[in-house]
Amino acid sequence: MKYIDEFRDGTLAKKIASAIKNEVNPHRHYQLMEFCGGHTHAISRYGIPDLLPGNVRMIHGPGCPVCVLPVGRIENAIRLAQQPGVILCSYGDMLRVPTDRGMSLLKIKAQGADVRMVYSSIDAVRIAQENPQHQVVFLAIGFETTTPPTAIAIKQAQAMGLNNFTVFCNHVLTPPAISHILQSPEVRQLGWVPLDGFIGPAHVSTIIGSYPYEYFAEEFQKPVVIAGFEPLDVMQAILMLIRQINQGRADVENEFTRAVTREGNLKAQYLVAEVFELRRVFEWRGLGWVPYSALRIKSAFADFDAEKRFQIPALSIADHKACECGAILRGIKQPQDCKIFGTVCTPDNPVGSCMVLSEGACAAHYSYGRFRQTA
Ligand code: SF4
Repeated sequence: MKYIDEFRDGTLAKKIASAIKNEVNPHRHYQLMEFCGGHTHAISRYGIPDLLPGNVRMIHGPGCPVCVLPVGRIENAIRLAQQPGVILCSYGDMLRVPTDRGMSLLKIKAQGADVRMVYSSIDAVRIAQENPQHQVVFLAIGFETTTPPTAIAIKQAQAMGLNNFTVFCNHVLTPPAISHILQSPEVRQLGWVPLDGFIGPAHVSTIIGSYPYEYFAEEFQKPVVIAGFEPLDVMQAILMLIRQINQGRADVENEFTRAVTREGNLKAQYLVAEVFELRRVFEWRGLGWVPYSALRIKSAFADFDAEKRFQIPALSIADHKACECGAILRGIKQPQDCKIFGTVCTPDNPVGSCMVLSEGACAAHYSYGRFRQTA
């Protein structure tokens, strides 16, 4: 299949692996963070660490959309869904994320709450149209990639004059999270690992382009390579990062030229800017409170904002006490460091969010199980 097979070619993978081996300086270590869960999945699935020299370490970042949503916001969604007359809609993976007390949207659905899995935000608008006697709340999550479809749903609901459709907005932003990892005193207090460079997310960058990363490449002197999700994309990005590090450069480079431009998708950016604005601060699982890292609905669209229509208290709830998701999302621990990894916590019975979605580090390690333990 075009754009798939040629990016999974084993012979080419060996050639890139050999180029990486020739490029690395054996007298230093390279700690590279793949921000995005899609890359974590590819790295685990294709056994990429097995192809890398021992002094090149890949560190998982917080770029899995369901993993970073804090327990308090999931508890908010559960309480919303338990209100009489409410239909709560969200994407499938979100329904399985557990709270500290082991509840999830799927479990309260089994208890009788009207929780529905949707494949798109527009499905939730349709459900609102078909159920005028109910309040339909769309639990919106995800990075910049899933934000434009939420904006479209709000605008469509407005155009249709729906008064029973709202969005519980939890959209978060990639560049502020990367900056936070690099500079926040809180993250340093919680524990972190020094990083030499970043593999930037593919799909997010199709929307925002490559230029938003230029600030922190320059400010923090960390190279960034935006890469696609196929194994050769990731291998090539690792090679490009190592070359930059060896040459003392800290540039933003684009490996994923087949889909990403410097400017990104301007139409989508205008749409998002029309409907959403920055939140002053937002809580991320593992990263704590990150300034200007999430979006809320603008007052012009307040009729479609669940946080305006319903009482949604700010809840700060710790993870399950055995769960190490926070430390994993900061890169300081690996899934196997968690005492209940693969025993009590499995994809069938996730205790923490990192085990829910295949993009989560724990689920990726559990599914492919050939990750080399690194110090
Ligand atoms: S295995 Fe991962 S998701 Fe499960 S409890 Fe441990 S850290 Fe959390």
